[in-house]
Amino acid sequence: MKEGKTLPKILIIEDEAKIARFLELELKHEGYEVVICGDGRSGLENALKSDIDLVVLDIMLPGLSGIEVCRRVRQESQVPIIMLTAKDDVMDKVAGLDMGADDYMTKPFAIEELLARIRVALNRKKLRSSEVKMDVLQIGRLKLNLTSHSAFYGEDELTLTKKEYDLLEYLIRNKNMVLTREQLLNNVWDYEYFGDTNVVDVYIRYLRQKIDEKYNIHLISTVRGMGYIIKD
Ligand code: CA
Repeated sequence: MKEGKTLPKILIIEDEAKIARFLELELKHEGYEVVICGDGRSGLENALKSDIDLVVLDIMLPGLSGIEVCRRVRQESQVPIIMLTAKDDVMDKVAGLDMGADDYMTKPFAIEELLARIRVALNRKKLRSSEVKMDVLQIGRLKLNLTSHSAFYGEDELTLTKKEYDLLEYLIRNKNMVLTREQLLNNVWDYEYFGDTNVVDVYIRYLRQKIDEKYNIHLISTVRGMGYIIKD
């Protein structure tokens, strides 16, 4: 929660003003930002906004039903949704979960339980997004796609050989550490190298030609007598 990223923003779609107001107070007290919509249509519109982190969605709503709102949100977004069912109606719960709701609560509910479920859903969401980020390594404008083994500088895709890519990935994974030629050989070339370590210098030169020189940046530094380093 730093660098301007605001608190999680929760959208409440609930037409019963008293319940909506109660939820708003409780959630704000927990430190969340809260937006309230009293009908299905405006609720749907707001749920699709990218700054909403979680939706608390009542099923019985004027305009569009909660089930329908859920179905339409899921066509476009994976934002966590917790459904509120007015009665202990098994069909409503099943329909809500079928439509992709993450969880549901039956009214009347204990606020502590709803808060706990909100925390769980938000954590799950955070985990999901950090998994997605794991597939990309980035340093400045240089980006490695670890799934496709491709490298980009800004929008430009770099043409790297497999060894050049492997070396670059290893350097970036261990950024801010000086890596000796022996370390690079053992980790990138997959075998114990008994000769000299010139091969590393050669590949570093290739990378510098393709990145440092081409884009006029200083990516790979030589640490005299030690090895190489990529700094943040
Ligand atoms: Ca309602």
